[in-house]
Amino acid sequence: MRSSMWGRCQEGSGEWDLKVIQMIGKNVLAVSAHADDVEIGCGGTVALHVKKGDNVIILVMAESSYTFYDGTVLRTIEEGKKEEEKAAKVLGAKLINLEFKSKEVPYSVKSVEAINKVIDDYRIDTIYTHWYHDTHQDHRRTTQSVLSAGRHVKNILMYEPEYPAGRSYLGFHNQYYVNIASTFEKKMEALKEHKSQVEKYGDVLLKAVEARARHRGYEINTEYAECFEVLRLLGEI
Ligand SMILES: [Zn+2]
Repeated sequence: MRSSMWGRCQEGSGEWDLKVIQMIGKNVLAVSAHADDVEIGCGGTVALHVKKGDNVIILVMAESSYTFYDGTVLRTIEEGKKEEEKAAKVLGAKLINLEFKSKEVPYSVKSVEAINKVIDDYRIDTIYTHWYHDTHQDHRRTTQSVLSAGRHVKNILMYEPEYPAGRSYLGFHNQYYVNIASTFEKKMEALKEHKSQVEKYGDVLLKAVEARARHRGYEINTEYAECFEVLRLLGEI
């Protein structure tokens, strides 16, 4: 047991993190432009919601394939589909893929209404999405669409961007922390299901994700954490 300005927390027990996360969520939507963005950005938080008993849906905007501008195929549709399904299963979340074209995810009536339907169908009260100032056009348009579709949703939090996307002249504001000490292993297990991506970026991707979780954890006196910038958060006292 350690005490700090953040209060007393039993490292790794999950008690502290569950109490915090109980403030938000019941029907949770974790949105990502591409398969694997959720695992990298908020996989530990998703697993924590599932552990608490919340209903979690991972909503992927783009079809599962990804091709570089020179034609190099980084992930085929078949690979991507298999990987995103396995990863969602590890986290205990339901997966929905809207199958917009990769790199051409729109901010349009179509994207807004498709997200709106999921929000209504599942009575979503908490959304996790990309950082608004992310440098990847798909990430940015996804969050623009989420903002329009989620106009009545109580809580909207943006997860921290990960290289190669996200480096911008604007800085990410580390406003809201979730202690993921109890679900970090699950986050990494889910991320490793994206085999094509792990092969492409190598061990360095896994190390970078772990380093960030450790860094954010250190900031709140725990082993691992994920960090969010707040778009909207309904206070409950
Ligand atoms: Zn992405």
